[in-house]
Amino acid sequence: MLECGIEDPTEFPLDLIVYGRGATLVEKPLSNSEGRIVFGKSKAIITVNSDISYAGKKRFVIAHELGHFEMHRNLVPVHHDTDATLEYFKNGHQETEANEFASELLMPEQLFRKECEGEKFSPDLLRSLADRFQTSVTSVAYKYFELGDHPVCLFYSHNNIVKYWKRPDGFAHFINDRTKLTPPEDSVAAEFFNEQKIYRKEHSKQQVWKSTWFELKHWESDNDFKFYEYCIITPAYNTVLSIVWEELN
Ligand SMILES: [Zn+2]
Repeated sequence: MLECGIEDPTEFPLDLIVYGRGATLVEKPLSNSEGRIVFGKSKAIITVNSDISYAGKKRFVIAHELGHFEMHRNLVPVHHDTDATLEYFKNGHQETEANEFASELLMPEQLFRKECEGEKFSPDLLRSLADRFQTSVTSVAYKYFELGDHPVCLFYSHNNIVKYWKRPDGFAHFINDRTKLTPPEDSVAAEFFNEQKIYRKEHSKQQVWKSTWFELKHWESDNDFKFYEYCIITPAYNTVLSIVWEELN
């Protein structure tokens, strides 16, 4: 990663890291993208959309563009990023690399593990980690999937269609594969797509049936399980990231 000798990335302004690496950072309104990088002969200009309302998301976008700067400068002269390229699922090699770069820059593995240790999983934990690392809740959710203590499954839906999902290795339940179909009708994701329902922070942990997202075996009963869904919704792009987990008594 970056050889700056920085242990806690929040202790050093990201714009100085960008300048230190030899790129210029500009913040201004962008239409149709969240971030952009333009490569010149020797320099590069990274632009971040000033309309992004969350400081943490801005930082994630800047770190993602810095990843392109470090790794892809000879590949394309201009690159635009939208919420679709900033999400983690199969986006092509370069986007994955830039996202992993940003994730590791903003949330170094050791520090992330330390902050999660012994903490019960909840939407509040993800939000407090986002505050702690000054990054987007979405990027924290993907990081938590990789490194967190509690197994969680992720489902990404766009325009009322499930696009991708991820299940941790060894997870005790199997997912009903709804790729290219609408989210389950009793899911929290469906409530957003069908009724534009967005839960307030304090109600963002919603109980769902096991059978909502997972295979219910014929000898099992939905009443014997406690599953929850927390949706990170981006209305502007009509996307929902559902985080689904089981709580054991
Ligand atoms: Zn990108």
